[in-house]
Amino acid sequence: MSKSSVPISDGRRERRPSGAAVATPVHSRLTVLSGPSGVGKSTVVAELRRVCPDIWISVSVTTRRPRPGEADGREYHFVDDGEFDRLVAGGALLEWAQFAGHRYGTPRAPLNEKLEAGVACLLEIDVAGARQVRRAAPDAWLVFLAPPSWDELVRRLTGRGTEPPEVLARRLAAAQDELAAAAEFDITLVNTSVQDVCRQLIALMWQ
Ligand code: ADP
Ligand code: 5GP
Repeated sequence: MSKSSVPISDGRRERRPSGAAVATPVHSRLTVLSGPSGVGKSTVVAELRRVCPDIWISVSVTTRRPRPGEADGREYHFVDDGEFDRLVAGGALLEWAQFAGHRYGTPRAPLNEKLEAGVACLLEIDVAGARQVRRAAPDAWLVFLAPPSWDELVRRLTGRGTEPPEVLARRLAAAQDELAAAAEFDITLVNTSVQDVCRQLIALMWQ
């Protein structure tokens, strides 16, 4: 896989002129972390933020309401439907998807700014979003986070206690489809230990 892409502008990949005197990373500076709801993506991202502050983590916009403990601008930018529509219409989102009744999207401008500066960037998004990033930035690394087992996924999602039963059911139904998409990704990491996954991710992003 060629690893010389530069930031995303309008969905097309640009390439540096050959021989350009830049510190070209081994791979694109953009990594995508996806996986079923409840597998531990947010937990891994929080640990990554703690142990490797050099990695920039995109803050998505979403129309879902904040969970207890979530702060606007930290976990997400929480917006209403009208604002989300405006962002989509204005081309402000690199990708967006509907997930379990709400919309989620990646703001394009801050990501581009970091990529332009050569910063390693991570998106934590769903599988539909990862597919869109694949099209917009073919050199991005797509990492699938898998649970050790289906039963463990159900335990984690239920144990988190953040969703009412009907939302839980929608997320588990979506999880079955998402697990089936693992083969589309460049690599699968099994989230048995958060620390191990972080170490593997850091190694991938800095190799
Ligand atoms: P996601 O962001 O993928 O929806 P979360 O990060 O919210 O998932 O994790 C779901 C639940 O699983 C949380 O209660 C979290 O503490 C727990 N969890 C995450 N990773 C692990 C792990 N490696 N072992 C055990 N529990 C985990
Ligand atoms: P949650 O509501 O549990 O925070 O997130 C639900 C799902 O939306 C998760 O799979 C999460 O990865 C995904 N998600 C979060 N932000 C984005 C985004 O910007 N774009 C897309 N496509 N999915 C996102």
